[in-house]
Amino acid sequence: MLCAHLLKLTKRALNRRYGPLPLRFILIELLSKESFVTNSMWRFIRPDAVKVWQDPQTLQRLPRYRAIIDQERIAKFLLAKQVAYDGELSKATEELWKDHSSMSIQFREFVHAVDCGDAEPAPVDCLEPSFLDLKVELAHRILENCHFCERKCGADRTHEEKGWCKLGPDSRVSSAFLHTGEEAPLVPSGTIFFSSCCFGCVFCQNEDISTNPNAGRPVSPEDLAKIAGSLGEDGALNINYVGGDPIPNTHTILSSMKYQQFNITQLWNSNLYCSEETMLLLTDIFDVWLPDFKYGNDACAQRLSGVQNYFEVVSRNHLMAYEAGEVIIRHLVLPNHVECCTVPILEWVAGNMPNCMVNIMGQYRPEHRVLKERERFSDIARMVHREEMNAALAKAEELGICWRPVS
Ligand code: SF4
Repeated sequence: MLCAHLLKLTKRALNRRYGPLPLRFILIELLSKESFVTNSMWRFIRPDAVKVWQDPQTLQRLPRYRAIIDQERIAKFLLAKQVAYDGELSKATEELWKDHSSMSIQFREFVHAVDCGDAEPAPVDCLEPSFLDLKVELAHRILENCHFCERKCGADRTHEEKGWCKLGPDSRVSSAFLHTGEEAPLVPSGTIFFSSCCFGCVFCQNEDISTNPNAGRPVSPEDLAKIAGSLGEDGALNINYVGGDPIPNTHTILSSMKYQQFNITQLWNSNLYCSEETMLLLTDIFDVWLPDFKYGNDACAQRLSGVQNYFEVVSRNHLMAYEAGEVIIRHLVLPNHVECCTVPILEWVAGNMPNCMVNIMGQYRPEHRVLKERERFSDIARMVHREEMNAALAKAEELGICWRPVS
């Protein structure tokens, strides 16, 4: 959005007075072309996003993602529409989950066969009901007794009951644009920001979105598909669902994929505090994962984000994502939390997810409740010291973690 605004200002300035006349005409013409702006401008802003693909470590860790960009592989959500579900969607929930479980195994074999050239994707666009329809139905069953995240509020959101995230059945999008600030392999990223969140981080840097369930505008699955489609047309390498957090909006996101046509990577950008059922719905569909790994123990998670059983839940979900797709973990280094959080996380990742990448982030700044309750959160009421970042990066290096291409 900022980029578009800057372009508008530049065009206006050029139109008014600056530069020799022929040069002004050429620049105005170039800036007027959508394709130049969207497909090329990011290359100047983020040259590292081009260079990163010359790094063998990136290619080794994100091969399928790269192949989708090059149109040599098919995004999984498109394949999920090509596998017919031969049961009845009106079955009892337990029966649907049994069917889902067996279809999931078949679907992974199908994806592998298509990738290897041993199976042809169906020529028809969409079989109904499909494996994706089964997932959409199960997502709506979860919404009736909401357990999209591990808070498991049990609210019937289909009847406007609200749980901890204060969301009803509708999803709201606060903004959507080509993001040039994400990790280098993801730029430009077609990022869609959902309102509200299932976490309560005291240092949240997006509190205007995450704490306000009424931020933005409501979107139907069709609206969301149109947003994703136009981001794809503008040159996005991926559709990046974030917030707040996408978890409470799983039903809308999965439903929108029925209407999405672009062969484009689907990216889940989340705190990953999903319930196991939500993870089962997502793992067949999302190609790339961008999960936060925030805390190395439950006590810090409880105090700073208000969630229980953090490490067990989030490590389980990281493993599920790693088994099914390609993963870039985000770890925000917190001041005074290198020993209790950063080190245990990096050790766990090195031992369990050796082929993933980790963005070790040093941009923490006190925000939100930390600013208002400095004494209560005195441990994180400052920026991260250089020595703390150096210690975090040295630990990652010592453990052989791949962090440089994405940090
Ligand atoms: S998404 Fe999570 S926080 Fe929101 S209602 Fe469902 S279980 Fe509760």
